[in-house]
Amino acid sequence: MSGCEHKMSGSREKVWLPYYFEGRERGLKPHPYCVECGLIKNLSSEKPRSIGYFMNIIADLGNHYKVAKVQTRLIALEMEKQAMDDKFGMDRMQQEDLFVEIVTRILNIPARVVSEYMD
Ligand SMILES: [Zn+2]
Repeated sequence: MSGCEHKMSGSREKVWLPYYFEGRERGLKPHPYCVECGLIKNLSSEKPRSIGYFMNIIADLGNHYKVAKVQTRLIALEMEKQAMDDKFGMDRMQQEDLFVEIVTRILNIPARVVSEYMD
């Protein structure tokens, strides 16, 4: 959780970074960034997911695997700590990678299984 409101840099102040479209790198593009915390704005074509989307997956997993309440809470806390709801800087692929990492670590469910629940 960054707690930053994110103030965009001006049009002249941008950083050149790889730009991704449909999961593929499409050369460099100027990215605006937050002048308060330095976070670079995500320009990916795929919109980031909400935390609710990921919590629904946990609920789904709970129908097939043993998921304790305390584990659900740990996952929610971990997502908050990693600022997964910060749509300014996270793109969908980064979110999904983080989510798989968190869930496999806390629930001990194979990454392949977790990925199957996301579509
Ligand atoms: Zn910021």
